[in-house]
Amino acid sequence: MRRSIIAGNWKMHKTGREAVDFVRALDVLIGRSPEPEVLLFPSFTVLSRVRQAVVGTSIGMGAQNLHHQDQGAFTGEISAAMLEDCGCTHVLIGHSERRMLFGEDDKLLNRKLRKVSTTSLTPVLCVGEQLEQREQGRSQEVVLGQLQQGCDGLTGQEISRIIVAYEPVWAIGTGKTATPEIAQEMHAAIRGWFRDRFSSSVGEGLRILYGGSVKPGNASGLMEKPDIDGALVGGASLQADSFAAIVDYGKQA
Ligand code: PEP
Repeated sequence: MRRSIIAGNWKMHKTGREAVDFVRALDVLIGRSPEPEVLLFPSFTVLSRVRQAVVGTSIGMGAQNLHHQDQGAFTGEISAAMLEDCGCTHVLIGHSERRMLFGEDDKLLNRKLRKVSTTSLTPVLCVGEQLEQREQGRSQEVVLGQLQQGCDGLTGQEISRIIVAYEPVWAIGTGKTATPEIAQEMHAAIRGWFRDRFSSSVGEGLRILYGGSVKPGNASGLMEKPDIDGALVGGASLQADSFAAIVDYGKQA
């Protein structure tokens, strides 16, 4: 039985005060049930404040990005050790905005994933095809190719710690959600890839989140699908009430 996850990616939103107010409101709305696992991915500047605010709640915290080196002359970058130091347990790797706006390619993402595998952080590897690629019938080729390159050189044991987020680029921030059937088809292909490439237990244990315009109104249909283990939520994670409603649907995943 895979434990479901509802994660909120705040992107470049929220000051410290706004973040703390959100956590307090969310804690009241969702209570302290162990299901689903609830994670917030705030921006770097508010991680320490969120860390203090989530103490005693059932909310966990991760970062949106990291650098693959341990330390050095990398102005503006943040290392895995720094994230661990401010209380992160998870980190996003390869969000489509990092890939598209900041030029992060699969080779670099593989370096990040390898680095994270040597730490206590749980990586959430984001993959997803663009609209043009879907229209060309290349969605699975693209997504499985991202997994192939991203996971290159990692052992089955290291892979068993990762979480995958399938986020079709055409559905992110656009209001166009993949139908539950489209998402399920890709999730099943992703699970099958891990099963074939590593082992059936790695495939069966892998948690695969769907991301792309998840809202309270469409979460339920997605969560009912057998290979969808939760959601990575952008826009709807910015208000405590809409995020709490999705957390509620996450109990079905
Ligand atoms: C995201 O940024 O990971 C995301 C899924 O955004 P949205 O929910 O706004 O589409």
